[in-house]
Amino acid sequence: MENKTKCPMCGNPNVETKTGQSYHFTESGLDNVYLTNVETHHCPDCGASSVSIPESTQLLNRLGEAIVFSSGLLTGPEIRYLRKNLHIKINDFAKLLRVSRVTVSRWENGRDITKPIDLLIRSIYLLKGGVGEEVRDQFKKWLEKQHVRKSKRISLRLPLDQFSCAPILACS
Ligand SMILES: [Zn+2]
Repeated sequence: MENKTKCPMCGNPNVETKTGQSYHFTESGLDNVYLTNVETHHCPDCGASSVSIPESTQLLNRLGEAIVFSSGLLTGPEIRYLRKNLHIKINDFAKLLRVSRVTVSRWENGRDITKPIDLLIRSIYLLKGGVGEEVRDQFKKWLEKQHVRKSKRISLRLPLDQFSCAPILACS
């Protein structure tokens, strides 16, 4: 495959590109998120590696939806991710849920998360986030199902449809 990427470290134009790779998306602030079908770049001169990730609110929103439909209790970092993706500050989130800031802070550190709190946060996310009717319908069905606890690994296959943003380089 023809490749026009220059090495971000040394400027070498002959960077090796691989497609169809899996990438551990730690930039999301979560440790269980993997992007699949990404392009990775390796510079044979200086050894730098990088990956092309589209900088897209669509990607972040899709990840939010994947979290909302994930099995098992939400983790602290997932709750933080959902709140931040709603662009709600911790104080305002606390007010919205009629709890103290300390309580939200405890949840985001993975403590005191119960099933009702988990469901409340998922519901708030769907209510406040810009999700479509079909996602809410999907959530109604999701709510009615009994969920088994399984692997919390979340994978998003790239590219998502309707991309409109230029790729950014994230060096790993
Ligand atoms: Zn290089």
